[in-house]
Amino acid sequence: MSVSHPMSSQIRAHPRPPRERGVFCNRTLNLRAIRAVGYDMDYTLIHYRIEEWERRAYEHLRHKLLALGWPLAHLEFDPQLVIRGLILDLERGNILKANRFGYVKRAYHGTRPLPFEKFRQIYSREMVSLGDERYVFLNTLFSLSEACMYAQLVELLDAGELQGALGYGDLYRLVRTSIDEAHMEGELKAEITADPDRFVERDPELPLALLDQRHAGKKLLLITNSEWDYTRAMMSYAFDQFLPADTQWRDLFDLVLVSARKPSFFWERGPVFDVANETGLLTPSPKGILHSGIYWGGHAGMVEEYLGLSGDEILYVGDHIYTDVHVSKNVFRWRTALVLRELESDLGAAEVFEEHYDRLAELMQQKEELEFQHSQVRVELQRRRGKYGPAPQASGRSLDKRLTALRDDLQALDEEIAPLAVAAGKLSNSRWGLLMRAGNDKSLLARQVERYADIYTSRVSNFLYETPFAYFRSPRGPLPHDPELAAGAAEEEQS
Ligand code: IMP
Ligand code: MG
Repeated sequence: MSVSHPMSSQIRAHPRPPRERGVFCNRTLNLRAIRAVGYDMDYTLIHYRIEEWERRAYEHLRHKLLALGWPLAHLEFDPQLVIRGLILDLERGNILKANRFGYVKRAYHGTRPLPFEKFRQIYSREMVSLGDERYVFLNTLFSLSEACMYAQLVELLDAGELQGALGYGDLYRLVRTSIDEAHMEGELKAEITADPDRFVERDPELPLALLDQRHAGKKLLLITNSEWDYTRAMMSYAFDQFLPADTQWRDLFDLVLVSARKPSFFWERGPVFDVANETGLLTPSPKGILHSGIYWGGHAGMVEEYLGLSGDEILYVGDHIYTDVHVSKNVFRWRTALVLRELESDLGAAEVFEEHYDRLAELMQQKEELEFQHSQVRVELQRRRGKYGPAPQASGRSLDKRLTALRDDLQALDEEIAPLAVAAGKLSNSRWGLLMRAGNDKSLLARQVERYADIYTSRVSNFLYETPFAYFRSPRGPLPHDPELAAGAAEEEQS
C-alpha cells in the first residue's frame, strides 16, 4: 500500500520565501509555545536607511569634535569602512575581524590594512576576548558611525594632528561620549522625525506579520530605549498607513515600554512610570505594571509578573547583539531572535559566487588528495635515507621524481585557488568580507549569534512567511569527522 506524501495531497503548496528572507534557527523554537513576543524598535521594527541615518549621526559627532579645535573639516562618513561584528582594539588603534575562537583574521590600523609583519607580531599571540575592556565589539548598525570616525581619527592622531595628548583608548572614549550625547540630545532625532521618508525604510509587510501574531493569541510588547515622543512618531509613520482603518500601531501592543534602559532593564529593578497618552506626562506606578498600556522605564521582571509567564514563553526580537539577545538570554532565559539586515546583501553576494564556491571546494579536495600523496612519498624517502622502517620498494630517484611532480601539481592548483579564495574573502565588503565568516571559519559575530540568538533573520516581516505557527528546528550541526564535509580551508590559508 502506498502512503501519499503530504505535499501530494489536495492542499495547495505555498511557496517558500526566498533564502534571504528566511528565518534561521540555532536552537529549536516552537512559535506555538510562545505566548508573548517582545520587540525592540530601532533597527528592528523600524529599519533606517543606514547610509542616511549613520551619516547624520556621524555629522553630529563631527561637529562636537570640531569644537575641540581638531582639523576634521575634510572627514566624511564612509559606509563601507566598517561592518557590524568587527572589534576595535583600543590599545593599538586597530580594527579587527576575528573568528569564532577569537583569533584575529584581518586587521586595519585606522583606515589602512595592518602590514603583515605587524599583524603577526601583535596578533599571533593575542586573542580577542570580549570581556576585556581593551576590545569593543560593534554590536549594532548604530555602531557604524562611531567606528568610522574612530578609524579616521586614529590616522590623525598618528599624524600628530589631534591636540591634547590622547592615546587610542582615550580617543575612543571621547568619541563614545560624544556620539552618546548626540543620540540623547534632541537635534538628531528631530531631524529624523521631521523627514522620516528620508531616514526610514518602511516595510509594508511588517504590520500584517504582527497582526497575524496578535490574532493567533500572542501578547505583543514593544520594549525600546527610545523616548516616548520619538517612539510614537516612528511607529506611527511605519505602521499606521498599513493597518486597517480603525487600527493604530498602539492597538497592536499590549505593553509599550519606552526609555527602557536596556541592558540594565534586564538586571536592575528600575522605577516604572505610566505615560499619559498624548502629552507624555509621567505618573509613578509604584506597584509595577498593572494593566496594558504605555510605560516609561521598568524592568524585565515586571513584564514577566504582569504577563504571568516564564522566560521560555517569551520571545524577544532585537538587533543589538549584546543588549537585546545576549543579556535577555543570560539573565532571564527569554527566547531570542536577532534581526540582522545585512544577511540579505551577504546572502545575495554569496549566491552570485556560488559557482566559484563549488569550484573552490573541488580544487581544495584535489589539493588535499595531492598533499596526502606528497606526505606519503616524503616519509618513504625519509625512511630510505635514514635507513629505518620497512624495506623500501621504490628507488630514491623515483621517489624524488614523484615528489617533484606532486609539488608542481600542487603549485598549479594553488595558482588557481588563490584568486578564488581572495575573491571569496571580499564578498559583500571588499575590506571585511561576509559578516558571519572569517576565512573559511565562522566569525566571532557568528559565534555570538549562535550562542545567544535562538533564531535570526534579516527583518521582522520574515515571520509573515513562517506564520505564528512555525516550528523552527536547529540543523544537525556539522562536525569535522562527519562524512562528506565540504573539503577545504582555502580562504583560511589566504587570509
Ligand atoms: P532600541 O533599539 O529600540 O532599544 O532603541 C535604541 C535607542 O538608543 C535609539 O533611540 C538610539 O538613538 C539610542 N542609541 C543608540 N546608540 C546610542 C548611544 O550610544 N547612546 C545613547 N543612545 C543610543
Ligand atoms: Mg534596536
